[in-house]
Amino acid sequence: MQSLKELYKIGIGPSSSHTIGPERIANYIKEKYPNCQYKIILYGSLAATGKGHGTDKVLRKVLGKDVEIEFNLTEKDLPHPNTLDVIVVKDGKEINTVRAMSVGGGSIKIQGVEYVEPKSVYELTTFTDIKNYVLSKGIRLYEYVYQTEPDIKDYLKTIWQVMKDSVERGLSKTGILPGGLKVQKKAKYIYQSDDIFVRDSLLRNKLTCAYALAVAEENADNGEIVTAPTCGASGVLPAVLYYAYKNEHVSEDIIINALATAGLIGNIVKTNASISGAECGCQAEIGTACSMASGAIAEIYGLTIDQIECASEVAMEHNLGLTCDPVLGLVQVPCIERNTMASMRAFDSFCVAYYLAPMRKIPFDTIVKTMYETGKDLNHKYLETSRGGIAKNYKID
Ligand code: SF4
Repeated sequence: MQSLKELYKIGIGPSSSHTIGPERIANYIKEKYPNCQYKIILYGSLAATGKGHGTDKVLRKVLGKDVEIEFNLTEKDLPHPNTLDVIVVKDGKEINTVRAMSVGGGSIKIQGVEYVEPKSVYELTTFTDIKNYVLSKGIRLYEYVYQTEPDIKDYLKTIWQVMKDSVERGLSKTGILPGGLKVQKKAKYIYQSDDIFVRDSLLRNKLTCAYALAVAEENADNGEIVTAPTCGASGVLPAVLYYAYKNEHVSEDIIINALATAGLIGNIVKTNASISGAECGCQAEIGTACSMASGAIAEIYGLTIDQIECASEVAMEHNLGLTCDPVLGLVQVPCIERNTMASMRAFDSFCVAYYLAPMRKIPFDTIVKTMYETGKDLNHKYLETSRGGIAKNYKID
């Protein structure tokens, strides 16, 4: 199992393959060929949906406003569906053409440069094995993370800062999201709405929804976010953590520990199943984010490892079968609202686990396996192809 640094990545939304990967490619080019001009040709899926996802915006942000970008939909002989060429020009002469691929999850490959897979750092890869280990040592899950990755705490502090910033930026904005769907930003509206609710739990729902919307809207608007575990599901975990921090006054040290626990849960799913909507549907993205968030809340409130496992298991179990059907291929409908639902469900799962953990029987590893098998059985229409579900039936005005 890889480092949590491979799960939590900082980048520009809305898509790890269409914005975070290209942003990394652009940074590589800028570092290798400084003070040059660049012309970029996007192919395959980057050409087909790059405009809606803001791939061109991200490339220009890194390499300069005047970069020429061509969208080539005719070239079929490609090494990967997300391929691009960068033609490097110096003193008016083309000095090189670099072919690069955004291969998913923000990872990139540069043609001709040896690709080194991130190394495995966690020996234990299932919840059961990790649970047995931490129980034998009398430690908590986050302590297992710190033991395995002694330098991870500083990285997690940076991750938390980016999460906080994305919530706060998102709460301050209004307007329409890019891409043609005319989706309105709603985080500020809900955040500033009158509190008609008299019960604490309903007020908590309003606030977590506002925080989840804030990040998911930032993601859709090419803002900087953290993949948790993906761009599309990036609002769920920050929403519950920000609620704990801002409204329950939980210390940042405890929040960082919860981030470590949540990262471990996400990593278990990534290693043993999938966190990709294109591979296993939205259950793999939002379902995993919900498990991470529920586990994080359970960690914050000091629950036992059985209760943490139960919270994450319940969160995933009741997202099973969730399809991926984004309208126009944009990460907006149903994605943004789905983040709000999962953030509330994370609290509900925590609540169920708090009371019922001793009476429940399904191990987290079993639900992860079930999610994966369910994903493999899903019709391709529901695997980020935008050919079924809401993407097919919603008529855009
Ligand atoms: S519907 Fe698809 S694109 Fe949207 S959040 Fe879910 S998995 Fe991601």
